[in-house]
Amino acid sequence: MIPTFRFAPSPNGDLHLGHAYSALLNGDRARASGGRLLIRIEDIDPTRCRPEFEAAILDDLAWLGLDWEKPVRRQSEHFDAYTAALDRLQAMDLVYPSFMSRAEIKAATAAPDWPRDPDGAPLYPALDRDLDPGEAARRVAGGAPFAWRLKMDAAIGRAGPLEFTELGSGPDGETGTILADPSRWGDVVLARKETPTSYHLSVVVDDADQGVTHVVRGADLFHATGVHRLLQTLLGLPAPVYRHHGLILDPAGRKLSKSEGSTGLSALRAAGATPADIRRMVGLPEAGVP
Ligand code: GLU
Repeated sequence: MIPTFRFAPSPNGDLHLGHAYSALLNGDRARASGGRLLIRIEDIDPTRCRPEFEAAILDDLAWLGLDWEKPVRRQSEHFDAYTAALDRLQAMDLVYPSFMSRAEIKAATAAPDWPRDPDGAPLYPALDRDLDPGEAARRVAGGAPFAWRLKMDAAIGRAGPLEFTELGSGPDGETGTILADPSRWGDVVLARKETPTSYHLSVVVDDADQGVTHVVRGADLFHATGVHRLLQTLLGLPAPVYRHHGLILDPAGRKLSKSEGSTGLSALRAAGATPADIRRMVGLPEAGVP
């Protein structure tokens, strides 16, 4: 199998040094292994994603010296594939429509000891998980807002114990064979009434559809891998190996955000930085040096 890597930006802002690091690592690894490099545009959120950001991202990636297979995959063009995957999980009775509003969730999870997911968000209280199916169908048909959520405990019960191979390291130095623990995320959202997918669902469908064998991405997504392994197992999809890398932080030690001007690639380009300067700034060897 040809090693296949992907860089998967969301076109909701400009790239910064953290993205450059991730993209260059993918490119370096693909080249070193004689593999393929794919770019995937993760544009499922029409309220935040814009074609001009996509154009700027591709321009920055080409400027950095990356060479990827064309055409790029745009998630917004593959909603049918995500819906088909959701249908399969529905047929396994592992999905339910959840109706609690943001305010209701906030009120139900206000206790200081309410469990939180690895990103710090309170777990979904799931008060409607056991709603009578007829009543749930009536609410959906009546136009109530809802999100399709995974019945996490039932899904784990069906999938059994899960592992993944970590070639890099997680935020706490985890490496090697890792026991995946999706239960930490509770009943995750798989799709919404207006958006027929979610980050978790589309990423596993796409990695499989695109034949991705190596997922190289930031350590902030390390714990999400548990959910990805669970969905891959339930859907019968192959497991890539994972390499999570350290994040590039700002001088105050915070994660970079897309609005951070001084570390934005366009600002650095405008100030005269070269692609070789960017490689140096993120701690990568010169291009072509293994
Ligand atoms: N689109 C995600 C991001 O921009 C990356 C997803 C992934 O690599 O799995 O953070």
